Amino acid sequence: MMSPLPTRAQFEITYRCNIHCVHCYTDPFNTPGQVRRELAFEEILRIFDELREAGVLWMLLTGGEAVVHPRFKEIYREAKTRGFIVSLFSNGTTITDDMADFLASDPPFQLEVSCHGATNSVFDQITQIPGSFLRFQEGIRRILARGLPLKIKTKAMKENRHELMKIKEFIEGLGLDFNPNTTIQPRLNGDLSSTDHRLLPDEIVELEFGNFLDAEEKACSPKEEKHSSETFLQPPSHDRLFRCGCGTNAVVINPYGVVRSCTFTTRPAFDLKEMTLQSAWEKLVHEIRNARYAPEVPCRVCPVYLLCGKNPAMAVHEAGSVQAPVEHFCGVAYGKAERLTKGSSSVVYS
Ligand code: SF4
Ligand code: SF4
Repeated sequence: MMSPLPTRAQFEITYRCNIHCVHCYTDPFNTPGQVRRELAFEEILRIFDELREAGVLWMLLTGGEAVVHPRFKEIYREAKTRGFIVSLFSNGTTITDDMADFLASDPPFQLEVSCHGATNSVFDQITQIPGSFLRFQEGIRRILARGLPLKIKTKAMKENRHELMKIKEFIEGLGLDFNPNTTIQPRLNGDLSSTDHRLLPDEIVELEFGNFLDAEEKACSPKEEKHSSETFLQPPSHDRLFRCGCGTNAVVINPYGVVRSCTFTTRPAFDLKEMTLQSAWEKLVHEIRNARYAPEVPCRVCPVYLLCGKNPAMAVHEAGSVQAPVEHFCGVAYGKAERLTKGSSSVVYS
């Protein structure tokens, strides 16, 4: 049976970036030697054509920092010309007046920017580039002045833990929603230093349940209502390794032309310089749908798996195999389960 074709593509057009966030999973590839390996402009266009042929509608341009690609404007225009609904991720510090005017001339569907802090010291500590918070604020001002469709997201981590409330106030002061996220991945080359910046499992649980920032308002607990049901506490009914949306409708393409099923997964992966998108997609779907947990692996029968953010890519780097449990995520998932079942004994702790 033929696999359904992808409708969404995330194209990491370059791993170049003008800053070096401490938690960044692509930063090891932001070097002149690695950048030389990246796809040529014409190869990007050829892949655009294949994606359009395959029926892709949604195109996310990202990086690295996509805007610093020397031919970013042409790439953006070519994506638009092909009829894709284009969204763009940026760190905001690169949005000059010229770039803001360019984007305003044919706006993206959404422009997503990361806010790491509400003060120079915290923001610049995370980006490791002095002056980046000022440039970020200027970029945000330019985006808003042109009415571009802005979304701001925040990676909650050790460095900004104490000023999450200030960040929330800053973002809400712009009339936007505060979107904290706590998942920090190993770097794509397997380096685990990025994970040193994670919040502790208990802190993540508090943040998820709204008590970390503001116990009264519970403004940071978007999942709380969902969490109130014990339907979350049951072992999986199947043994599939990929329990997420991988292999259903989206592809991720890196700057070297390698296609994967998600941003963080490094396997399975297929090179679009050696095969068509159609055959890469079919192989990808086949491998993902056939990847199974062994019966004896704790994740296979885990009663809190629906509360767990572990994925096979991080398990390889952090625990030595795609199937292995990752201690940090066990801590978060069981912590959430404990909060949900206060006083109940329905969760068996391993
Ligand atoms: S802005 Fe994005 S790509 Fe650049 S260093 Fe930060 S996390 Fe990495
Ligand atoms: S990593 Fe831990 S919490 Fe997550 S599914 Fe595996 S055993 Fe369960």
